[in-house]
Amino acid sequence: MSLNQSWMQRDLAVLWHPCTQMKDHEQVPLIPIRRGEGVWLEDFDGKRYLDAVGSWWVNVFGHANPRIGQRIKDQLDQLEHVMLAGFSHGPVIELSERLVAITPAGLDRVFYADNGSSGIEIALKMSHHYWVNLGRPEKRRFITLSNSYHGETVAAMSVGDVPLFTSTYKALLLDTLKVPSPDCYLREPGVSWEDHSRLMFEHMERTLAEHRDEAAAVIVEPLIQGAGGMRMYHPVYLKLLREACDRHGVLLILDEIAVGFGRTGTMFACEQAAITPDFLCLSKALTGGYLPMAAVLTTEAIYQAFYDDYGSLRGFLHSHTYTGNPLACAAALATLDIFQQDNVIEANKALARRMHSATAHLADHPHVAEVRQTGMALAIEMVQDKATRAPYPWQERRGLQVYRHALERGALLRPLGSVVYFLPPYVISEEQIDFLAEVTTEGIDLATRRSTGVYVNTGLHPDFRDPG
Ligand SMILES: *Cc1c(COP(=O)(O)O)cnc(C)c1O
Repeated sequence: MSLNQSWMQRDLAVLWHPCTQMKDHEQVPLIPIRRGEGVWLEDFDGKRYLDAVGSWWVNVFGHANPRIGQRIKDQLDQLEHVMLAGFSHGPVIELSERLVAITPAGLDRVFYADNGSSGIEIALKMSHHYWVNLGRPEKRRFITLSNSYHGETVAAMSVGDVPLFTSTYKALLLDTLKVPSPDCYLREPGVSWEDHSRLMFEHMERTLAEHRDEAAAVIVEPLIQGAGGMRMYHPVYLKLLREACDRHGVLLILDEIAVGFGRTGTMFACEQAAITPDFLCLSKALTGGYLPMAAVLTTEAIYQAFYDDYGSLRGFLHSHTYTGNPLACAAALATLDIFQQDNVIEANKALARRMHSATAHLADHPHVAEVRQTGMALAIEMVQDKATRAPYPWQERRGLQVYRHALERGALLRPLGSVVYFLPPYVISEEQIDFLAEVTTEGIDLATRRSTGVYVNTGLHPDFRDPG
């Protein structure tokens, strides 16, 4: 038995993996990873995989990065953790100062959590609590976009709209107001991203006008709806949204958990619309992909609505045990240093151009409806019929075939349904981008060659879609 197989057996005897129908592993091998270096992951049999999805969108400066690793080791010798209620420490103060400095003007307060979903819960609770403190408790509903994803906890799921992740739990969810997404994949032929996004804003405007008295906040993923299939839209939508939220007295929550830290081409996606949200949620790449942490930034005005004598009961009495963990703060500080010292946002422009040119030929593929890109995120949408854009039936799991081919060729390319995408670490080289494009082209050719998929399995969850 190979080392991979032996670790896989031990794993499957005791683990239950995230976002996985475990029975799949009767056919699809589980890959135990022994070590990582830069863009590469290496399994126990010595095979290497280029991590094209940054290990679920968190890794931006490569695995086993010595600069981030050293900072965590240094911190480990000083202080591993202290509770953040009544106590504080250097790394969390320094990180907060730096986040306030690099985020859009007006975001002057930072609250921490230990994962993205918890960060979303904080923004949702804080936004409603703000209105309660202002004597408007009826403002308790959230306006969301179709096809959005904001995490897995119950309230975060409520403001999301990817049926695979939420439909089973419908009975548990909050009653939200859903508005059609500005998703530019759905635009009419010949219409620009900007015009489509502008047009779709009319739905949002109408909902805001109608529900302004009961709406606490609007929550959106700026520019890219990630788990919803890397669907993209134009920044003009965010500009219109900020203006309308102000006009109707509704708060604005931007979920930059996936798109923050350079993914869209700017440090934060909202910079492209030149707006400041009332809440900015960050996680994933915040620590370079090293340790779990989330930050929710908000304005002084929100903060002041909670600031009062204890007896007023206006305080935000919310906590996560590992809030502001010093090791995670150290990883985040090292990550911010690299962004600054290596001029990463500027350097990424050449990589983004290479991602474009290396995949441009796929636009002509008979089963590719669209190759779309925003900065360092690129997605290729496979369809059954190019002319009508009729999707492949989900049961055929075409993306899974691309995934399996890529693994054979030494790349971790885990599609979302029929959407193959690159969200690579920023330390990827132009040659490695070309390699990914080559593997993707082969994988798409293989996956779309047959009229029916190979991996149809009627025992699967009815909404199965291979997650990112
Ligand atoms: C990943 C993600 C979340 C949830 O973060 P977790 O750390 O997985 O809880 C929320 N919103 C968006 C946009 C995400 O991509």
